[in-house]
Amino acid sequence: MRFETLAVHAGRQLEINENEPITPPIILSTVFERAQDATYKHNLSYTRDTNPNRHWVESALAALEGGAKAAAFASGSAATHTVLQALEPGDHVIATTGYYGTTKLLKQIMKPWGLEATVMDTSDLAQLEKAITKKTRLIWIETPSNPLIKITDIAAVAKLAHAAGAKLAVDNTTATPVFQRCFDLGADLVMHSTTKYLSGHSDVLGGAIISKEDDAFFGRIHTLQSTAGAVPSPFDCWLLHRGLKTFALRVRQQAANALALTTYLSQHPKVERALYPGLPSHPGHDIAVRQMKGGFGGLFSFQVKGGRGEALQLAAGLKLIRRATSLGGVDTTIEHRESVEPPGYGTPANLLRVSMGIEHIDDLRTDFEQALKAI
Ligand SMILES: *Cc1c(COP(=O)(O)O)cnc(C)c1O
Repeated sequence: MRFETLAVHAGRQLEINENEPITPPIILSTVFERAQDATYKHNLSYTRDTNPNRHWVESALAALEGGAKAAAFASGSAATHTVLQALEPGDHVIATTGYYGTTKLLKQIMKPWGLEATVMDTSDLAQLEKAITKKTRLIWIETPSNPLIKITDIAAVAKLAHAAGAKLAVDNTTATPVFQRCFDLGADLVMHSTTKYLSGHSDVLGGAIISKEDDAFFGRIHTLQSTAGAVPSPFDCWLLHRGLKTFALRVRQQAANALALTTYLSQHPKVERALYPGLPSHPGHDIAVRQMKGGFGGLFSFQVKGGRGEALQLAAGLKLIRRATSLGGVDTTIEHRESVEPPGYGTPANLLRVSMGIEHIDDLRTDFEQALKAI
């Protein structure tokens, strides 16, 4: 089946859904009756272990990424934490300087637990190769990265990781499986903050890990999921599953809007530069063209001429576009990242990050035009 068909139909499990409703019911029960011989029908006993809505959405996520198995979590961060906990104390991880929460997890939570981490610009392959040690078990990349929109060469890093006996995990939140097929490029694990594009309406918190193989490492992830219990509710699984049905349409519109708007912004006299892998001026453009197909995602950043003051003034002057954190929703939002990251994290003070929505491009451009005129 083609991607769009899978997006609508993946995760249909008629064995539990005997009356075949087109839209799955939300099954809130935390417990399921045991058969007379003490077995459980469909492996359902208690909702921390699994639940029909979680089971359906996990099989849909595995199908959309092209992996063997998926595990859904209560947030993207819980999904990341679970992969890190599936390693052993003493292991070493290399991670992209990307989403700040991942760095914080590594430094503040996993370091005291015994995990060593090198957080770096993974777009620099020579430096990445030098950072690999005998204890490196996992390379965690985020591409395009959030919020600096750097591009890491997935296939090249997969080769480096596998030569060192390490796994490659890709945080595919910003690219989505519509544009970036990580398993085809050599990744072993894919992570999503399903809060973002996959749900798409800024009303669900969730995360997922998808594994290329149903192997022992995924077994540890699965055990952590059901034993530690950072699982999503049936309602959140249902909302995510509903979001999956339209997400290919949404992200294509978001990517088209992002390309049009960054082309406009990069030529504006009050803009220093726009960071978007779809622009030929982007240093990662050639790699992005090779590893992303059909678009470059809906997330971009740009730097206003001037400093923090001009950036804040521009964001404040927008009327249609709203100031909010997070990304991936149908509403366009803008955020000044430097003011939410700790001092010294490296995001320039004049940078604004934009999460493109699905509004008409003319209305978005008009809003930027009037706000840029005012600064
Ligand atoms: C939001 C985000 C996360 C964390 O996900 P939550 O659902 O907020 O916990 C991780 N990686 C990236 C790239 C993100 O944008």
